[in-house]
Amino acid sequence: MRNKRGAKDVKRAELQSYLNNFLAIDRVKDYCPNGLQVEGRDSIQKIITGVTACQALIEHAVAEDADAILVHHGYFWKGEPAEILGMKKRRLQLLLRNDINLFAYHLPLDVHPRLGNNAQLARLMDWPDPSPLTTVEPEGVVMYAELSHDESAVSLAEQLEQRLGRPLFCAEHNDQAIRRIAWCTGGGQGFIDAAAQAGCDAFITGEVSEQTIHSAREQGIAFYAAGHHATERYGIQALGEHLAEQFGFAHRFIDIDSPA
Ligand SMILES: [Zn+2]
Repeated sequence: MRNKRGAKDVKRAELQSYLNNFLAIDRVKDYCPNGLQVEGRDSIQKIITGVTACQALIEHAVAEDADAILVHHGYFWKGEPAEILGMKKRRLQLLLRNDINLFAYHLPLDVHPRLGNNAQLARLMDWPDPSPLTTVEPEGVVMYAELSHDESAVSLAEQLEQRLGRPLFCAEHNDQAIRRIAWCTGGGQGFIDAAAQAGCDAFITGEVSEQTIHSAREQGIAFYAAGHHATERYGIQALGEHLAEQFGFAHRFIDIDSPA
């Protein structure tokens, strides 16, 4: 069926089951619900994607009269207060008042072999044949690749800055030669030891902790924190483009910039 915008009319339930199945949400244990988090209108023609379901993203969706928002970071994280107060109230109120659906996919989007954040970062960086580091769960949350030639740690830093379009958050290395690289988009700094143990020469993630630097120095692994937001812009965008193709949706990715 076609509607007045000329787009296909897709029912929310159809999109929901397509996404849940496509991203295999039952296969991954997570800290938040994956899938439809806030129910809005029944039929969907226009979607907005973004990294985080912040107030500014919802405002964009309202201004563009979108039917659904798809994000990587949604709501209802394990351990957060259950009360709907303040910031949380304002976000939910804006969604509900405008009858906009909110879909959120966290770990299932990180690990998706083609459209996931890790897969899309490899694509952006031209890292060949990414494989999951099997010592880490869930599978695909840390990936690695062998470069075809030795890369200097400095030139890897430059490539990251150039392709991500922003300065690195932090880099710790001795300009050593890099051949095997591992990565985990977002807050994956805790995996640096697994990457070192797997014989990787470099580890790239979004964030850094104090102890990460000591891990890098003492195990001789080059470390790069390229930004949580910056490294996680690509999965949700690829998912939105895929849905636009699959269902004929109008789609727009809105980048609400964050230095973190
Ligand atoms: Zn994240």
